[in-house]
Amino acid sequence: MGIPHSQAQCFVCGSEKRNRVPVSAIQKIFDSHGIFIPKENRACPVHIGDGIFVEEAVNAIMQKSIDVQLDQETTLDYRLGSLR
Ligand SMILES: [Zn+2]
Repeated sequence: MGIPHSQAQCFVCGSEKRNRVPVSAIQKIFDSHGIFIPKENRACPVHIGDGIFVEEAVNAIMQKSIDVQLDQETTLDYRLGSLR
């Protein structure tokens, strides 16, 4: 499961107020929920607390996630926790 690539708007709420997402948040949601988020994606700061997505954002992300095909290299990076 995963979230489509998007840089133009916040991928959580669609707002144009967006920032880079900390890699720690992207890694965490992959580890805990198996959801892939492209590391180039942007999100509003309000969805992040303490370097991870807040619960409300996690719920929104789960609802938005779709079936995505990842190439092997990307999958490995996420699996091994070696995102940078
Ligand atoms: Zn947002």
